[in-house]
Amino acid sequence: MALRRPMIAGNWKMNGSGTLANELFRKFTSKLKNDSAEVVLCPPTIYLESVRQQLESTKDSLNGSLVRMGAQNVSQHDFGAYTGEVSAKMLKEAGCNYVIVGHSERRRMYGETSDIVADKFAAAQKNGLTPILCVGESGPAREARRTFEVIAEELDIVIEKNGTMAFDNAIIAYEPLWAVGTGKSATPEQAQEVHAFIRKRLSEVSPFIGENVRILYGGSVTPSNAADLFAQPDVDGGLIGGASLNSTEFLSLCRIA
Ligand code: PGA
Repeated sequence: MALRRPMIAGNWKMNGSGTLANELFRKFTSKLKNDSAEVVLCPPTIYLESVRQQLESTKDSLNGSLVRMGAQNVSQHDFGAYTGEVSAKMLKEAGCNYVIVGHSERRRMYGETSDIVADKFAAAQKNGLTPILCVGESGPAREARRTFEVIAEELDIVIEKNGTMAFDNAIIAYEPLWAVGTGKSATPEQAQEVHAFIRKRLSEVSPFIGENVRILYGGSVTPSNAADLFAQPDVDGGLIGGASLNSTEFLSLCRIA
């Protein structure tokens, strides 16, 4: 029986502020308990340092709960002439444990192919970061009943380049594009169906990995739909966008998980 500690990761995207971190930690220190979900905050790069300082200064008052920091993106390269990019080593040095790779907004708006995503996944792991790999189908792909095909493609290229065992140190986030930022979440049944598919695909090569990898659901998760989503057997928590910017909602999601 796998023991997958639930996780709630907050993806602030290009939102939030230095004070949001302060506000969250003020709430966390009194409310989080050591049996809560693992919490990961993914602020914009410029706020990593202020989140790190909050983590440092509150670490003795978080009641043993696990709060960590992640970045929203990483370069696939180690160093060099890549203006505007940040390497995995730099993120690690800044105090990150996690990094989101392959978010649909990056695939769609910044031309990140699955090949590049697989390289980012590798760069993260090589430098001691745990990648949170996002996969998900578009609305038209779902309508055309191509959901599993799209998810398998996105997953397989990462497996081909990194091996199934690489998922021993990775998180997967299922984020259907039609649910991200739309207010229209997947139903618990839709989420469970895809999560089970992902777990099975990894299990085919390694039952251990399949059983133990944490798979988060993301896409319009709010305190009102979270309990049913998180109750699904293969849903291990959430990757939260909009609701991570409201400290009350985010805290309540952490507690629901
Ligand atoms: P959302 O975003 O919760 O605002 O839909 C989720 C995400 O993009 O990770």
